[in-house]
Amino acid sequence: MNDSNTGAALIDGKAFSANLVAQVAERVRALRDDHHLTPGLAVVLVGEDPASQVYVRNKHKRTVEAGMRSFEHTLDASVTEAELLTLIGGLNDDPEVHGILVQLPLPRHIDAGKVIEAIRPDKDVDGFHPWNVGMLASGGRGMVPCTPLGCMMMLKDRVPDLSGKRAIVVGRSNIVGKPMAHLLLAENCTVTIAHSRTRDLPDEVRRADIVVAAVGRPEMVRGDWIKPGAVVIDVGINRVVLPDGKTRLVGDVQFEEARKVASAITPVPGGVGPMTIACLLRNTVVAAARQHRIALPDGWE
Ligand code: NDP
Repeated sequence: MNDSNTGAALIDGKAFSANLVAQVAERVRALRDDHHLTPGLAVVLVGEDPASQVYVRNKHKRTVEAGMRSFEHTLDASVTEAELLTLIGGLNDDPEVHGILVQLPLPRHIDAGKVIEAIRPDKDVDGFHPWNVGMLASGGRGMVPCTPLGCMMMLKDRVPDLSGKRAIVVGRSNIVGKPMAHLLLAENCTVTIAHSRTRDLPDEVRRADIVVAAVGRPEMVRGDWIKPGAVVIDVGINRVVLPDGKTRLVGDVQFEEARKVASAITPVPGGVGPMTIACLLRNTVVAAARQHRIALPDGWE
């Protein structure tokens, strides 16, 4: 696939996510028409972090566009942990709410772990509850975190049989790196998880057929780290300031260098980013169907 004249194929996250959202909307229609069920997503925002406000607005808009119910709960930064837990208890019991997402980060006085554990695991559409983490690690059927799920969908579209491939995940966070590694392992990849203490990182990356970068360091992964023909999934979103004072979004991979060597690569922006919300909508549909014991078509579970 890699052509030295044109470089790597671009994995178009925008097109991929548009397609996934269309599938979600179709499934929502079917659930409504055949089962009188409208999936509902509750998003809880605490405080006034501008980035979080943008994410929450976006999630609301996309949820409604897909034909689902959206319940937004915006709480003052001074809300107590007990008040937040009471709200979550109410959402757990609300039959119109099938998915619950608490926008992170939370203010310091609130224990995020405790809040996540309070969400009913079958409504935990972020897949962060320890029960879902355990299900993913043990090969069970839980909720899979949205960003790694989106990465996996795009990767499998490009490389349908991942069995036996060497994969490296750079980054070991609970929301991206670790779940991504479990998903790759479930596809029978030989998985390396790299982090800030990894020795000879370029050397480790050079051995991989699949590179997933989730570090949060602008353009850290260089072109000469990439094995010719590897597939590169760049999760990083970093805003950098250019010499003229303007800003630009870049990934964790030096895109122009890597695209000359890789067989396929996700751009930033327009790669992994758009898939995350699409997967959140998908998880909400899956959660609603499971809660009502409705079978979904192949490819949904
Ligand atoms: P975290 O900061 O939680 O984790 C970063 C990981 O990178 C850590 O495991 C850290 O290692 C590792 N790391 C840091 N420096 C190095 C280094 N020099 N060499 C090797 N590893 C290193 O980040 P997230 O996982 O939350 O996010 C990663 C990136 O993905 C960010 O740019 C974020 O914005 C983006 N992101 C994008 C999303 C999307 O929708 N596209 C969603 C979520 C995140 P250690 O554990 O040793 O500290």
